[in-house]
Amino acid sequence: MKLTQGKINELLTQSGCDHNHKKDGKGKNKSCKQQAQPGTAQGGCAFDGASIALVPITDAAHLVHGPIACAGNSWGSRGSLSSGSTTYKMGFTTDVSENDVIFGGEKRLYKAIKEVCDRYHPPAVFVYSTCVTALIGDDMDAVCAAATKKFNTPVIPVNSPGFVGSKNLGNRLGGESLLEYVVGSKEPEYTTPYDINLIGEYNIAGEMWNVTPIFEKLGIRVLAKITGDARYEEICHAHRAKVNVMICSKALINMATKMKDKYGIPYTEESFYGIDDMNRCLRNVAKLLGDADLQERVEKLIAEETAKLDIALAPYRERLKGKRVVLYTGGVKSWSIISAAKDLGIEVVATSTKKSTEEDKAKIKELLGKDGMTLEKGSPKELLSVIEKTRADMLIAGGRNQYTALKARIPFLDINQERHHPYAGYDGMIEMAKELDEALHSPIWAQLRKAAPWDAVETVTEKLVVNY
Ligand code: SF4
Repeated sequence: MKLTQGKINELLTQSGCDHNHKKDGKGKNKSCKQQAQPGTAQGGCAFDGASIALVPITDAAHLVHGPIACAGNSWGSRGSLSSGSTTYKMGFTTDVSENDVIFGGEKRLYKAIKEVCDRYHPPAVFVYSTCVTALIGDDMDAVCAAATKKFNTPVIPVNSPGFVGSKNLGNRLGGESLLEYVVGSKEPEYTTPYDINLIGEYNIAGEMWNVTPIFEKLGIRVLAKITGDARYEEICHAHRAKVNVMICSKALINMATKMKDKYGIPYTEESFYGIDDMNRCLRNVAKLLGDADLQERVEKLIAEETAKLDIALAPYRERLKGKRVVLYTGGVKSWSIISAAKDLGIEVVATSTKKSTEEDKAKIKELLGKDGMTLEKGSPKELLSVIEKTRADMLIAGGRNQYTALKARIPFLDINQERHHPYAGYDGMIEMAKELDEALHSPIWAQLRKAAPWDAVETVTEKLVVNY
């Protein structure tokens, strides 16, 4: 895949992405097209984004063509789990040096691909470009094409050097490589009228395993998982699905829109968090598959699951009722977690609108009510002030905000990619309720909020002095 200015502009202005529309829905939002400025790679570069999107393909080898620090930057930073192969966990890199910068790194790359194929025999090798190897002009596409022929293994170039833009653009560049080299390259053994793909679900903490059994129970087959817990082969078959279910819609929207144009596969944007969202997802998928029988089965399953959840969640609902939380996360999660919290009787008093589309913001407003606060930026100072103003009992946010919560002496729940507990699906609701309950009612908070012994002694002494 050649990385041209035209390709970057196309990926930055996907018509299916609400970010690209002006607030009134008319015309394009120019800021989306803006090129990355120095410093914008902070918080994840395009290479990082592409590896986030593709590394969860568990049986493939992922080879980073660049200095060792690029591989180290993103390796193992996300908790995508595998039910089988662990090849994706190996950190392969060409580790280019000054010599390669001067004389070119193509030979080194070819040798690295050979070594990976000889030693690990993966079904495919994904090769990622980085700033250095893109700047010195290594022709990665040509090396990958030659290696594919020679080693009889698909070697897929992922042209995503960090300097081209943000993590989000990198996600889409990863998707482009899948579209160009993988999707449609093989035929499945058989197809069914109930085949779907999950796009943008990365199986963080094993979340997808809470959802796939529900689909199976309904007779829906997940043909390709793109890409959590995926095998290379299943993504080759993805073009035969009847519906694409987009989970983190902004990340791989280009895959859904292009598969709709090329293969006529309709897509729906869904969330697996909270009872209402999970129910809506099942109903929408059944509707798109267009089977009245299936729709009936979905309603029956929803009724069964709701009855089971009511029993399982009852003790938690009692203990969590009326608790106030500040939510600081991004995109779809900023409203889907509000809906999940509401299911448990928790009040979300403030949430972020970071990376949220106009549609997301409208949903947030509706769910928060008129007293709820929205946060555009979430510096620790701002978060601490919001926690104080709203008298929040807890902060739900990404891992790096846990120290802000500890400073405010309130419990914290990690909701982002580093989390260790699966919150998706119906079982995920029980897990979330359990985690919230444990965090909120831990005996440590009473200890932590007590005055320090030396402060307590001072107070007693002060009292004695005053009395005397
Ligand atoms: S690809 Fe570029 S921006 Fe990304 S980690 Fe490597 S050097 Fe840094």
